[in-house]
Amino acid sequence: MHEIYEREVLKKLRELNAKRVLIQTPEGLKREAQYLADFLEGEEIEAIISGDINYGACDPADREAKLLGCDVLIHLGHSYMQLNLEVPTIFIPAFAKVDVVKALDKNLNEIKKLGKKIALVTTAQHIMDLKKAVEFLEEKGFQVFIGEGDNRISFKGQVLGCNFTAAKVNEEVDGVLFLGAGYFHPIGVALATKKPTLAVNPYSGDALWMDKEVERIVRKRWGQIAKAYDAKKFGVIISIKKGQLRLREAKRIIALLKEHGREAKLIAMNYINPDALEGFDFDAYVVVACPRVPVDDVERWRKAVLTPREVELLLGLREDYEFDEILG
Ligand code: SF4
Repeated sequence: MHEIYEREVLKKLRELNAKRVLIQTPEGLKREAQYLADFLEGEEIEAIISGDINYGACDPADREAKLLGCDVLIHLGHSYMQLNLEVPTIFIPAFAKVDVVKALDKNLNEIKKLGKKIALVTTAQHIMDLKKAVEFLEEKGFQVFIGEGDNRISFKGQVLGCNFTAAKVNEEVDGVLFLGAGYFHPIGVALATKKPTLAVNPYSGDALWMDKEVERIVRKRWGQIAKAYDAKKFGVIISIKKGQLRLREAKRIIALLKEHGREAKLIAMNYINPDALEGFDFDAYVVVACPRVPVDDVERWRKAVLTPREVELLLGLREDYEFDEILG
């Protein structure tokens, strides 16, 4: 990443007259952060590296940057997210260097099972290859639609683990093609669109239909809802991370729980984890923060842990299972 970005970053820092910067990085880009710090110090800009692991653009270290007297925050690895930031912030997304067309070509017969009219979505890592993917698919006779998404996302066709709005296109499509690694995003896409969804992984070259995955995860989630069935006291957890802070939604959930005869208290956390909650006297928790937290780490929770939409299911206020989303 450094060959491409270092000069561009320096140019922006000069424009901002930056003397001291904080560099924030996800796990996989720690060495790049170190390299960038070296490079900037060679250019007479003091660089501090944040040692806290970052998981998304929803968690910018702008407050920390301000506290440390930094003029600019450099946020590595994620694309821009519209947030009210306390210092100028340069987002440097990490784009994957992998041949997406090769993976599409290999799985063409599976993709054809989606139908002719398809919506195409991906994660930020592959967003620069979306055009190439569309050209390839159109050449093969597909009609491809890319959703705009809402204000939380940076690029057309981009999905986040907390936002699948770009998977919903203004056209009646036969199915959705997800390009990327991992299951969380395509499961969310399938649940949000209710369309047949095929995930093509450009790294492994594999393709996987999401119906079985959706079934598996929804069954697990109903297990959590059942576990919370008799719970009286709920801890409703909000995050203090800027892009995950959903106070109004948490208050809505508290009001709903109380209306239905349950007790509920608001808990604010930075790093949400079950160990830190040991000792509290709650029967179940609701995470109104990153929607991945209660799903990805469910095995670590002793008490039932639900999303806001799962609370609605618990209380009989909705019927369809959907992943929680943070909309922009
Ligand atoms: Fe990713 Fe969760 Fe942040 Fe959304 S809230 S961007 S899923 S870390």
